[in-house]
Amino acid sequence: MTPEARRKRIEQFERACRERGLPMTTQRRLVLEEMLVRKDHPTADQIYDSLKSRLHGLSRTTVYRILDTLVQFGIITKICHHGSAARFDPEAHQHHHLVCMHCEKIIDVETGPRSRIAWPSVRGLGFQIQDYLIHFRGICDRCRQTRAAEVPLPPPAPRHPTEKPARPVSERTRRKKENPTMRSRRKPISKGGSHD
Ligand SMILES: [Zn+2]
Ligand SMILES: [Zn+2]
Repeated sequence: MTPEARRKRIEQFERACRERGLPMTTQRRLVLEEMLVRKDHPTADQIYDSLKSRLHGLSRTTVYRILDTLVQFGIITKICHHGSAARFDPEAHQHHHLVCMHCEKIIDVETGPRSRIAWPSVRGLGFQIQDYLIHFRGICDRCRQTRAAEVPLPPPAPRHPTEKPARPVSERTRRKKENPTMRSRRKPISKGGSHD
């Protein structure tokens, strides 16, 4: 985003705040400025982590609230993926996303007027379509190269018919080992039990 486009977006937010009687606080301005320089579609926690050292007294909840305000005002957009934390996007115009299924990286794809999809008929479903967003899921170059480097040979054949072949360590499993606080989303967390 060009500095000019960033400046216009900040002015748009200032105007929206004024119209609704909200003060343009330093926290609101800095959250928006941080969003506008990011290209990685950050989570609210990532925005908080980038700003907490610069803004003393800033709370995680405040960042969540400011991001929601920005979404409500149409300054940024919110992208939700099944099973993932919400991600925020400074690009408010219509575009699609390439989503890496391994590292959850999101890459913007611009859409031309010819690539518009036909909206389905939803008459009788009690719903009004206002917009759409397409996620093309796949694997990013970095993950593809990492996986290629990690798996120089095909996995050995099972020695016993019931034994499954050894699977290569995926990016997610490796990150989980490095960061023991990251929990698997599939397994429910046992209540009251010990964690050994
Ligand atoms: Zn990736
Ligand atoms: Zn985007």
